[in-house]
Amino acid sequence: MFKKILIANRGEIALRVICACRELGIRTVAVWSEADEHSLHVRFADEDVCIGPARSSESYLHVPAIISAAEITGADAIHPGYGFLSESAYLAEVCEACHIKFIGPSPSVIRLMGEKSRARRAMRKAGVSVLPGSDGPVDTEAEAQKVARDLAYPVIIKASNGGGGRGMRIVRSADELAPALRTAQREAQAAFGIGDVYLEKYVEAPRHIEVQILGDHFGTVVHLGERECSVQRRHQKLIEEAPSPVMTDKQRKKLGAMVVDAARAVGYTSAGTFEFLMDAQQHLYFIEANTRLQVEHGVTEMVTGIDIVKEQIKVAAGEKLSFSQHDVQISGHALECRINAEHPETFAPSPGRIDAFSLPGGPGVRVDTFAHAECTVPPNYDSLIAKIMTHGRTRDEAIVRMRRALEMTVIEGIQTSVPMHLKILAEPDFQQGRISTAFMDRFLPAPKPAPAPATTPSTTPAA
Ligand code: ADP
Repeated sequence: MFKKILIANRGEIALRVICACRELGIRTVAVWSEADEHSLHVRFADEDVCIGPARSSESYLHVPAIISAAEITGADAIHPGYGFLSESAYLAEVCEACHIKFIGPSPSVIRLMGEKSRARRAMRKAGVSVLPGSDGPVDTEAEAQKVARDLAYPVIIKASNGGGGRGMRIVRSADELAPALRTAQREAQAAFGIGDVYLEKYVEAPRHIEVQILGDHFGTVVHLGERECSVQRRHQKLIEEAPSPVMTDKQRKKLGAMVVDAARAVGYTSAGTFEFLMDAQQHLYFIEANTRLQVEHGVTEMVTGIDIVKEQIKVAAGEKLSFSQHDVQISGHALECRINAEHPETFAPSPGRIDAFSLPGGPGVRVDTFAHAECTVPPNYDSLIAKIMTHGRTRDEAIVRMRRALEMTVIEGIQTSVPMHLKILAEPDFQQGRISTAFMDRFLPAPKPAPAPATTPSTTPAA
C-alpha cells in the first residue's frame, strides 16, 4: 500500500480523499494556491506545499509544480480528484516516468475516453448502444450538412475534447448549421486547445443516466448501479440520485453488464463513469465516459455501502477489488444537492466571506464540504461549496430528509443555491420522478421575444 498520497486538488474533494487516506493509514500531502492558504484541506493534510498563485493555470493545472511537490515530499502516488488535471493523460504519463502512481486509469485509456468521438467508436465496437452521430470529427460544412441530414434535425455539435458541459451547440435547421459549426470549432479551440467537433443526434428532454464502475489490475470490473443526474442547468448537474427512479432491476443488470463488458474490452482500471441519455421510449444511448471520480459519487456510496475512493486507492496500489458483482446490493435511495456559492435565481457567482455556517445532521444525512464559518470562498474556482446528501429507505424518505436538511442549513454572508433546491424539491414533478434535462427550464427567465422584423423575411425551408 502507498505510504503517502499527494492530492492534486482543492476544496471538498481534497478533503474527501484525505478522509479515505486517514482510514487507510496513508499520509497525505495537500497542495494549495495562494488563494487557498487557510483552506481546510491544507489544515487536515499531514504535509502541504504551496504550488503557485490563485490562477489555476499556474497552480492546480501546472504539472511541473505538482510533480515537484510530490518529489519534494516523497509522495508515492497522486490522487487527482475531479476537474483540474483529473483527466490529463499527460499528467498520468509524467507520473509513470517519475515512478509516482497516478490514481486513475492508464494514460492510453484516459486519452481514448478524452477524445469523445474516438470513445464513441470504441464503445460501438464493444457492443454499447451509442447515440447516432458522426463517425469521428467533422471538419467541413459539406460533411456536417450530410451527417445532419442523415441524423435529421435537431442535432448537437460537441467539442471532441470538451467537458464540463461547455462547448455544445444545438442546431435545429440546416441554415443554422454552418455558422454554428464555425463558432463551435472556434470555441473548442479556445477552450480546449483542440478545435475538433463532432455531431450527435439531439435528444429532446432526455434523462441523464450514468453507470459507476470500478476495475482492478486483475481483469475484474464491477458496476455499482446507476445514478440519475437529469436535474441540470446549462448542462451542469444540480441534483443527482441513486438509483434512477425509472430504472428496473432488469434494466440495471442489462446496462451494468454492457458497461462492464465494454470497460473490460478497453482495459479499464480504477473508478469510472459511463454516461447515457435515455429518450422518451426509455432507450439508453452512450454519450461519454469520465475516467475519474465524479462529484456525485457519494450517492452511490450511500446506497451500496462501498467507499469508492478507498477502493480506487487500493486497486491503484495493486490490490484486488475487495468485493464481487454479486456483493453489490442497492439499498434504499440517495439524493445529492450541489450547494453552490451563487445567487439562487440569477445563478450569478457569489464568492466571499462566510459569516455564519451550520451544517445539517441527523439520520441519513452526509455533507461533504470545505466551508466553515469565517472562511472565504475564493472567486477563482468552481462555485461548489458543499454537497448535501441524504439516504432513505425510499425515494420519498430521501426527499423528506433532504428538505429538512436544507431547511436546517445555515450559510450567511454569501448567497447559495439552497433556496433553489428547496423550490425544486417542492415540485410535484420532482417528487414523482418526472424529471429530464429540461426540468429546470421552468425556473429560468423566459427568453426575450425577438424584435419584430421591419420587413417580412423570406422563409428558408428546413431540411
Ligand atoms: P460534458 O462532458 O461537457 O459534461 P456530456 O456529453 O456529458 O458533456 O453532456 C452533458 C449534458 O449535455 C448531458 O447530461 C445532457 O444534458 C446534454 N447533452 C449532451 N449531449 C446531448 C444530446 N445528444 N442530446 C441532448 N442533450 C445532450
